[in-house]
Amino acid sequence: MLLVLGAGESGLGAALLAKAKGYNVFVSDKNTINYYYKKQLLAYNIPFEENKNSLTYIQNATEIIKSPGIAESNPTILFAKKRKIPIIDEIEFAFRHTKAMLIAVTGSNGKSTTVHLLHYLLNKLGKKSVLVGNVGNSFAKQLFKDPHYDYFIIELSSFQLEYIHKFKPHIATVLNISPDHLDRYQNDMVKYIHAKMSILKNMCAKNYFVFHKKEKYINKFLGHNKISTQIIKLQSTKKFLLYCEVEKKYITIKKNSIKLPGIHNYYNILIALKIVNLLNFSLSHIQKYLSTFYGLPHRLEWVGKLKNINIYNDAKATNIDAVFHAFMCFNQSIIWIAGGIDKGNNYMPLKKEVGKKVKALICLGKDNKNLIQNFQEYIPQIFQTTSMQRACKIAFSLAQNDDIILLSPACSSLDLYKNFEEKGDFFKKNILFFFKKNTNFSK
Ligand code: ADP
Repeated sequence: MLLVLGAGESGLGAALLAKAKGYNVFVSDKNTINYYYKKQLLAYNIPFEENKNSLTYIQNATEIIKSPGIAESNPTILFAKKRKIPIIDEIEFAFRHTKAMLIAVTGSNGKSTTVHLLHYLLNKLGKKSVLVGNVGNSFAKQLFKDPHYDYFIIELSSFQLEYIHKFKPHIATVLNISPDHLDRYQNDMVKYIHAKMSILKNMCAKNYFVFHKKEKYINKFLGHNKISTQIIKLQSTKKFLLYCEVEKKYITIKKNSIKLPGIHNYYNILIALKIVNLLNFSLSHIQKYLSTFYGLPHRLEWVGKLKNINIYNDAKATNIDAVFHAFMCFNQSIIWIAGGIDKGNNYMPLKKEVGKKVKALICLGKDNKNLIQNFQEYIPQIFQTTSMQRACKIAFSLAQNDDIILLSPACSSLDLYKNFEEKGDFFKKNILFFFKKNTNFSK
């Protein structure tokens, strides 16, 4: 029996594909299964249990598909390992059932932006691509629903790469690696790096691995491990050049033709361009489409402006490196709204920028101890609240000409909100409420 552990997006997808492929499949979730997912399990006649992981099902399993949210330290996983029951990820399972062209994207930051840009460019070029994986559309479910695409663009978190064995994308990238999710990896950066880099463990000489030369953890990993795939290191310069091997020339991309803010987005764009180029599209044809790609909400999203006070929603910045790159976009004073669940942050890399730019910190979280301890010496005014309305009211009352109001949490949003989208939406709603009372507000 094939046991699917966890009945979220990826577990449901795996179960649907397994059933369609004739497996004897059972789904077990130790929490209550979402109504919509349960309805689908019933509709397709897939047996399941909820609010428990019964031992009998685990003992009878010949293979387990683990959902990404379940950590290695989970007792059910520990038990299965003891019994030597093979464990795989949903991505691995889906891979067994496709021969499609796969482009895999991981990294600590920039995954969603880059996969959406890739999808956008390929569609502009008349290709049929689909986004799967961490974007919220299970790879397995997509294969079950409709496998007929020119390209599958797979966004992968480290959690989805922990139990891959044969997964082999045609092109892969690790956009960057910086500390994140260390609570999941027992504070061990090496474990996190290995999970990310396992994206290329089965790739061969016909495949391509693309990354930025500046990435120290990736360089180090490649130096210490035998890799059989073609490695493409990208280098960008101040002039924002990308060397195009197919056309044997440098291409200059005009910075003002790009709508995404910040140097970090140049890195994402370079990777996306190189990948499309590896699919045999000429760079000079692609770059005109960059000027119509506006990025995604909640990633340094410009909310509006009052006089010269600009407001940005960066609710998706749930780690230090993302916040650092947000700070690098501004020279003005920043009123910074941060906080939530600290995933084991080391705030050191932020301190210099914070000392130079942040005039007030509004801690929005249930436990703000770490933020306060780390920044009390660097920021003149620190406030604490668990209410977004109050946070926005404080920000509004402090803001003066030329200031930036920035929500960039450095933490996960789950202490007070369902997810980062909900936090970002509340922020936009509340801050606009205070600003719209003022007639000079523009958007
Ligand atoms: P992910 O899907 O990896 O979380 P997103 O594209 O959703 O990435 O962006 C998450 C956060 O990271 C946002 O705050 C965004 O501004 C920031 N970010 C995007 N690209 C990069 C990058 N290359 N380096 C650092 N931060 C980035």
